[in-house]
Amino acid sequence: MKSCPQCAKSLKLIDIGGKDRLACIESKCDFVHWDNPKPVTATLVTTDGGLVLVKRKFEPFVGDWCLPGGFIEAAEHPAQSAVREVLEETGLDVEVLKLVGASAPGRGINVVILFYLAKAIGGEMIAGDDASDVGAFDHHQLPKNICFELHRQMIASYFKDRQFTASI
Ligand SMILES: [Zn+2]
Repeated sequence: MKSCPQCAKSLKLIDIGGKDRLACIESKCDFVHWDNPKPVTATLVTTDGGLVLVKRKFEPFVGDWCLPGGFIEAAEHPAQSAVREVLEETGLDVEVLKLVGASAPGRGINVVILFYLAKAIGGEMIAGDDASDVGAFDHHQLPKNICFELHRQMIASYFKDRQFTASI
């Protein structure tokens, strides 16, 4: 972001509240680029066949597997977002059981990830538009190429006790 979305003047790094932030140089304009993270969901979906993973069709990590999820829509409850994203990507109807983690990957990836545990209650497992494949895996069947460190950690936690009794 180089110019102000309110008045199109240049933005400059200015110390605001002890942090350098891009802010508008026009004195009548109050725009500050706060650069707050975007919230996303990632859901651990349990089925009789195991944990559901999707194979990525788009960058980054095309061809790797990860938990289904995505960006939360405006005014959407995070748990509803989780249900919607799982349906879009896997064809499965799920019931969200609980929030099992909240984390941020860091390293310039400006998102906050809400991890949900859910169980499949219907639908048919079919890869959606964002995925090239979808599958359910038990612990010993997990694909080797699972991307995203936090997804790998949550998947490992799931297979430890399957309940997230010590969550977040
Ligand atoms: Zn401005």
